[in-house]
Amino acid sequence: MQAAVAGHADELFLQFHKPDPRSQALVVAMHETPANLESSLRAQLDWASKHFRIGTLDDLAELWTRRNGEAIADRRPLLLFTFDDGRESNYTIAAPVLESFGGRGVFFIVPGFAEDALTDHSLSFYRSRFNPDCGPNREVCEDWRPMNPAQIADLANRGHSIGNHTSTHRRLQNLSPAELEFEIGDSARRLASWIGKAADAFAWTFSWDAIDKDAWEVVRRYHRFCFAPCAGVVDASSDDPSLLWRREIEARYSPPEYRLCYSGLMDLWWAGRRKQLRRMLKPTSGIPEWSSRTKA
Ligand SMILES: [Zn+2]
Repeated sequence: MQAAVAGHADELFLQFHKPDPRSQALVVAMHETPANLESSLRAQLDWASKHFRIGTLDDLAELWTRRNGEAIADRRPLLLFTFDDGRESNYTIAAPVLESFGGRGVFFIVPGFAEDALTDHSLSFYRSRFNPDCGPNREVCEDWRPMNPAQIADLANRGHSIGNHTSTHRRLQNLSPAELEFEIGDSARRLASWIGKAADAFAWTFSWDAIDKDAWEVVRRYHRFCFAPCAGVVDASSDDPSLLWRREIEARYSPPEYRLCYSGLMDLWWAGRRKQLRRMLKPTSGIPEWSSRTKA
């Protein structure tokens, strides 16, 4: 990797494989953004904004409504930032940094974690649900504090999008219909009651294959956009909003690491997984069920 970066292979790859701004976008998935990483996050966004246009979920939605051949003002492809799990540091650090670059993020929230924000339970929730392998005392240097429902509503008022990340950060495989309804539907209703509108986006937890077709069909009933933890460029000419790709690029990555990630070189390694997910989750009807649903 160091050799690739030293030889500027990452920049070269990005030049030749830059997403097409008319139909393609890059979606980044991040987790912790603690205060000690604020300057690295800012440096990363500064670098990224030279190659991409940092935008919003509405900008992403526009890729599917733009007419073929329609002129676009900005030649830089869209870059959308998403943050998983709803840590307080995403509220205090990531949101204002993103706003200073003109962007708005998608914050994937776990309502069970957010509701614990004002109690002593949040650390035990974090230990058992997010990071079961966390050793004793490791959390002192980890970013385990959740943002609370009032902070989540404030983000929505500032133009950010609030997404669903299940009620309790559960793997969505082999669950009963009642469990799926609790993890997905109940979670969506709680988020809507906090932000006063439907949460359009969903992201499943843990790994690229921690979902099955039954779970995904429930997701489609409640959400227009479903994001996979599987890297790739989003392409509105071939992807459906109900199955979209995200590339994990963390605030803690060094410049050589994030430059390599933004180049897209690593996406090649994920191609087989994208293919498997497309095959496993093939929609049974072409019309997403959410479109017939009245928005809250
Ligand atoms: Zn998560």
